Amino acid sequence: MSHIRGMDTHPEVVFRKWLFADGFRYSLGNKIIPGHPDLWMSKYNVAIFIHGCFWHRHNECKYAYTPKTRVDFWNDKFKKNVSRDKNVRMELKNRGIRMLVVWECTIKKMERSAEYREGVLYETERFIKDTLEYKEV
Ligand SMILES: [Zn+2]
Repeated sequence: MSHIRGMDTHPEVVFRKWLFADGFRYSLGNKIIPGHPDLWMSKYNVAIFIHGCFWHRHNECKYAYTPKTRVDFWNDKFKKNVSRDKNVRMELKNRGIRMLVVWECTIKKMERSAEYREGVLYETERFIKDTLEYKEV
């Protein structure tokens, strides 16, 4: 959803720089792969989505709060986003494309702690080189 996940938002930029520094290459703004992933790694057949916790309703995350006003409006919007994400996941699965979701709060935490960052990058890179079909960090 281009109005939600705009190009070059901060968390996306920092995350992809870490991957780049570790030698991974990707393309940006792919419009052919379902869901238009933020990063596309053709070499590994991996589509990476950087998800904002608020818009994509990260489970049990403090950033995925519901605003106090216009509750119906927000709930309707959230429901649409969540069902869209589910459809994207199904579509990728059907096409044999592997999917990695990186939550925004994970990136924030990675910025605060080098140890945590190394752990997540290790997990991420293991997933990229593996054959698993889906992962969230
Ligand atoms: Zn979150």
